[in-house]
Formats: sequence, structure tokens, C-alpha cells
Amino acid sequence: MHTVDRVEDLNPHRIARQQFDRSAPFVDDLADWEGLSDFLFEPEHILEVALPVLMDNRSVKMFTGYRVLHSSIRGPGKGGIRFYPTAGKEEVMALATWMTWKCALLDIPFGGAKGGIAVDARALSRREKEHLTRRYTVALGDTIGPFTDVPAPDVYTDAQTMAWIFDTYQMMHPGQGNLPVVTGKPLELGGSVGRDAATAQGLFHVTERFLELGGVPDLSEIRGARVSIQGFGNAGRHAARLFHEAGATIVGLSDSRGGIYNPDGLTPDSVGRHKDETGTLAGFSGAETLGFQDVLEVPCDILVPAAVENMITTENAERIDAKLVAEAANGPTTPGADDILCGQGIHVLPDILANAGGVVVSYFEWAQNLSNQQWDEAEVAEKLRKKMYRATDLVVARRAELLESLPTYRERWAADHAADPTLPEPDYRMTALTVAVKRCQAAALQRGIWP
Ligand code: NAD
Repeated sequence: MHTVDRVEDLNPHRIARQQFDRSAPFVDDLADWEGLSDFLFEPEHILEVALPVLMDNRSVKMFTGYRVLHSSIRGPGKGGIRFYPTAGKEEVMALATWMTWKCALLDIPFGGAKGGIAVDARALSRREKEHLTRRYTVALGDTIGPFTDVPAPDVYTDAQTMAWIFDTYQMMHPGQGNLPVVTGKPLELGGSVGRDAATAQGLFHVTERFLELGGVPDLSEIRGARVSIQGFGNAGRHAARLFHEAGATIVGLSDSRGGIYNPDGLTPDSVGRHKDETGTLAGFSGAETLGFQDVLEVPCDILVPAAVENMITTENAERIDAKLVAEAANGPTTPGADDILCGQGIHVLPDILANAGGVVVSYFEWAQNLSNQQWDEAEVAEKLRKKMYRATDLVVARRAELLESLPTYRERWAADHAADPTLPEPDYRMTALTVAVKRCQAAALQRGIWP
């Protein structure tokens, strides 16, 4: 077991590297090629752009935007764009890296990418947000494209943002079939049915399947489980609805302004109406008001972090009172917190598996756009379910194999690392990463290092 570091490095890109390094000993042959790890881990392309926007008060405000293509080994870049105050280079690099592993794990033909603009999107008017989006799209130029890098929504961006990106790109490249340049578009503009709820639907399938496979000894199904969810946006709000519809009791919910708790259960529709009317969850009648972090610590069976990175850290991991953590957010749990949760017997269904439903249906949207088709709801739902089940089955089976072969891995590790001879048992994050990295490694070696 890794020793728990109380003063944690919360840099998301270094966390992504730590996760990679922890899984590397279980990726056969990786160590045989000196430098291959760096080739697989380092981003291919980092673009930083300055974005002037004429604000409603006639001032000119400068913003900084990023787009990182982490890897195109397995296909064009794929990954969301977030408008968020902390969306700097390192954060976007980490998110792009996680996208590469996610697309590989789900076996969809994309590499990984991500974009971001450092901005408090909630303080922008609709016109300012549109101008910022269009200016960003122009600045990205041919960095994005249907066969190079395909963006999608992420934190504080949505179908409307994707429509503006598509329209701007279309103006720059008239006369081409540009619909697949971006996914998560409105239905009227080449979007796919099921994309809006896909991240939460995928999370639901992964959790359902994991429980069915006996992943949590005294919890065999979602019905009757107590669920607490941090974040009430695209991922969190749909997750609350889906778990509630399946018979779970939603005991805790939160957004960036605060949380609410009721051990007897919250009705997501009523909470949603309150949020739409007042802009916040706080003050919802029939629930105790909490801080936005407290919702992570309420007693529950399934905890769903669905906000942003670094929410479960060495500072609060010991206070998590759940049987399972299912990561809807990207990077919500630090490596130190992973170790603490593991020590407490709490499994974590990692982001690259648990929240992959969004990119899977984005891939479906891209494929529909390229073939001029529109699949119906049942087709999208069944294809998504199959993908999520298959990936969950694979990760569960792979972990069992790794645990069985652990003595061999440990022997090999100890022989080469006399100073640090302990190789920790792989958790589900490390296991999922081994599958993903292995696939990227295989594709890289089959393609060869150009020229
Ligand atoms: P969103 O903008 O729709 O919602 C974000 C939610 O998080 C809001 O409720 C917001 O109030 C809350 N929040 C923001 N900052 C917070 C903070 N510091 N503390 C607590 N709560 C905070 O975004 P989303 O699309 O639901 O994304 C949420 C997470 O899910 C992100 O990590 C994102 O990368 C990940 N994700 C999203 C998708 C997708 O398809 N949208 C796919 C995969 C993963």
C-alpha cells in the first residue's frame, strides 16, 4: 500500500502522471521500451490563445483559452470544452490525457483532447458567452475538425455552445459536411438523441453492472440504495433522476453554492424546479442545508462526485461514509484519497470508465453525422448499454487476473526496484488504466514511430 501523503500535490496533470505511473508496472512490455511511457503520456499539441471580447458595458476583456490534443494514436482527438475559472494549461492537459484513456478503454476510435477558457461563465451575459465562444472557435482554426479533433460540452458549456462552435466553423469552411466537427449539438442541428443524459446514463449502467457482478458484497442492486451526488449540472442532475427512477433514495445533492440532505429522500424533479426558479439548491424546503463539500460526507451507499477535480482528497477521504464511489466528474479523487478509500474497503469506479457514457454517445453522434443517419432512442440506448457493460465486465475481469498474477508482478517489480520494493495491489482505477494504456501502446507500436 502507498503511504498516504497528507500534503498533497493537487496539480491535475501531475496527478494524471501519478495515476499512469502506478498502473505502468501492470502494463506488460511497457518497461521494455525505454521512453515509450513518455511518448504515451506527453501531450501531442498544446494551443494557447488570447481572446478579446467586447463586454456589454463596452469594455474589452481579455480571456485565455486552451486546446490540448493529448493523443491521436487511436484516432482524432475527442474531448469537451469547459468554461471555468481554473481551466488553465495543466488542468486542460490532464483532462485531455484522461480522454485518451477513456476512449481507449471504451474502444471507440478516438484519441484524447480537451479545451478550456479560464472564465467565470456564470458572470457572462448570453451575448458575451456567444462572442467568447465564436472568438475561441476562430482562434482554434484548423486545430479542430471532423477528422482532427472533435470538441463536446463540459462544465458550463452545453448544446447551445456547441451550436455556436458549429456555426462559426461552418462560416470558416463553407460547402463542406461540417456537422461532425463538434458533438453534443442540439437535436435540430445534428445532435443525437440520448446525448444530453448520456454521461449519467453510462454512470448508471456501470454502477448497475458492477453491483450485479458482486463488486460490493452487501449491495446487489441500485433499488433501495442511498445515493448522494455532488454537482447538479448535466452529469449530476440526470444521475439523480435516473437513480431515483430506479428506486434509489437520493439523500444528498449539491451545486457550487451549497448542498441539501434528507435521509428520507429527495425528489430530483422538485429539487430541479427549485434550482431553476432560484438558481440554487439552498433553501429547498424539507431538507437540511449543507455546504457543497458536506454532501460528500453524508452516510450513503453510493457516492457520486459530479462536479470538478480534487473534491475527495486526503483531507476528507477518511470521512467518506459510502460503500462505493462512482465518479461522474473527471479527476474528483486524488491518488492519496484513492489509497485511503481502498484502505477503508470502498471501491472507486474511476472516471475513465464511470463517466464515459458521454463520449460514447458523442461517438454515436459523430458516426450518425458522417453517415447522414438518425438513430432512434432505443438504438442509442441499447448500443450505449452494451458498450458500458462490456467495459465494466472487462475491468472487473482484468482486475481479477491482475490480483491472481500479483505475486509474479511483485517479484518482477522487487527485482528492479530494490529501494522501493512494494508494489501496491491494483484498484479499479489502475486496472482500467492498464487496459487503456495497453491499447494505446499496441496501436503506437503497430503504427511505428514516424518516420
Ligand atoms: P455542468 O456545468 O453541467 O455542472 C457542473 C455542476 O458542478 C454544477 O451543478 C455546478 O454548480 C457544480 N460545481 C461547479 N464547481 C463546483 C465546485 N467547486 N464545488 C462544487 N460544485 C461545483 O457540468 P457537467 O457537464 O455536469 O460536468 C460535471 C463533471 O462531469 C465535470 O468533471 C466534467 O468534466 C464531467 N463530465 C461531463 C461530461 C458531459 O458530457 N457533460 C462527460 C464526462 C464527464
